Amino acid sequence: MQFIDLKAQYAALKPRIDARIQQVLDHGQYILGPEVKELEQALARFTGSRHCVTVASGTEALLIALMALDLKAGDEVITTPFTFAATAEMIVLAGGRPVFADIEGDTCNIDAARIEAQVTPRTRAIMPVSLYGQVPDMDEINAVAARHGLAVIEDAAQSFGAVYKGRRSCALSTFGATSFFPSKPLGCYGDGGALFTDDDSLAQAAREIRVHGQSARYTHTRLGVGGRLDTIQAAVLLAKLERFEWELERRAEIGERYERLLAGVGGVQRVAVRADRNSVYAQYTVKVDDRAAVQAALQAAGVPTAVHYPKPLHRQPAYAQYAGTDLCAVSDREAARVMSLPMSADLSEADQDRVVQALAVALKGAGSAPAAKAASAVVAH
Ligand SMILES: *Cc1c(COP(=O)(O)O)cnc(C)c1O
Repeated sequence: MQFIDLKAQYAALKPRIDARIQQVLDHGQYILGPEVKELEQALARFTGSRHCVTVASGTEALLIALMALDLKAGDEVITTPFTFAATAEMIVLAGGRPVFADIEGDTCNIDAARIEAQVTPRTRAIMPVSLYGQVPDMDEINAVAARHGLAVIEDAAQSFGAVYKGRRSCALSTFGATSFFPSKPLGCYGDGGALFTDDDSLAQAAREIRVHGQSARYTHTRLGVGGRLDTIQAAVLLAKLERFEWELERRAEIGERYERLLAGVGGVQRVAVRADRNSVYAQYTVKVDDRAAVQAALQAAGVPTAVHYPKPLHRQPAYAQYAGTDLCAVSDREAARVMSLPMSADLSEADQDRVVQALAVALKGAGSAPAAKAASAVVAH
C-alpha cells in the first residue's frame, strides 16, 4: 500500500498527460509557454481569484508574496509554529521575523483568537496555514488584519480546492499561496506553485519578481528571483485539472469513510473539520498516544504512516530564537500525537479497511508490554 498513490493517478490520466507533455516538446516554448497562461486562467477561474501567478514552488510563492508586499528588515509576520518549515523560513529569508501564535487543539490550525495579542507596531502581515487541507478561521483573521492594517497571506500549500463558507481556499485574503509538489492535493511532476490575489498591483509585482524584477525585458525595476513554473509542469497540471473535481469528491468520500470507520475504534481522535468548511485532506491525520509504538505496529502490518509535523517550529534549532510570548503549549502537545494515514483519491475501500483494522489492532496492543516491545524492535530495525 502506498501512503499517497500517484501511480494509479498517472495510469488513469496517462493519455491526456502524455499528449499535453508532447505538445510542449513539439512547440518548444519550455519557459512561460502558452500552457502557463492557460493554466493561470483556469486556476484563477477555479478559485474565483482575479489573478493567478504560477511560480516555481509553494516555497517560492510564499517568498514572492512577501517580496511583493515589500516586507522590510525586522518586520513581523504572525504565523503558526505547527506547519512545514517553509512558512517561517520564507519570512526570515525575506528579512522578517516570524511571531508564533498557538493552534486550536481540535483542528491544529492557528487559533485566530490568539493573533491579536501578538500584534505590535512592527507587525506587517499574518500568514495562516490551511493545515491538512482545511482553512482556518479566515473571517476572524481578516478582521484582525483590517483592524491593524495588515496583509494576510494564506499558506494554502495543503488546501488547493478546499471550500470555506462557499469560497475557495487561495481566494480568501490579500494573497493565497499554493504548492503543486507531487503529493499535494493538486500536484505536478516536479516542483510548482501559484499565487492568487485580487489586487492588480500586487499581481503585477509578483509577475515581475518571478522574472528577476523585470517590468520589461532587461529593465530590472525591483529585486526579484528566478521563480517561474516550467511549461511542462503547467501541461501536467492542465491534464490533471480535468479530473480534479472528481478527485475532490473522492477525497471527501474517503475522508468521511475514515470518520465513520474510526468512530468505532477506541484510543484514536480525529482532527476536527468545522461545519462551515471542508478539508481536502492533503493529509488524513489522527491523534494517538504512544505514537511510536502505533506507527511501528502499522509499519509491521504493511501500512505506511507519516508525522506532520513531529516538532513545532519554535522547537526547531533554526527557529527557536523566534519563540515569543505565546508559549505554544497546544502545538507541543499535538506534535507528540499527530499521525497521518494513507490518503489519495485512488485509495481503495479494501486498503482503507486494512488501514483501520491494523490501527485498531495496534491501538489495542500499544498499551501492553509485549506489543510495545515488538514495536520498538521494528523501530530499531
Ligand atoms: C508543501 C508545503 C510548502 C512548500 O511547498 P513546496 O512546493 O514544497 O515548496 C509550504 N507550506 C506548507 C504548509 C506546505 O505543506
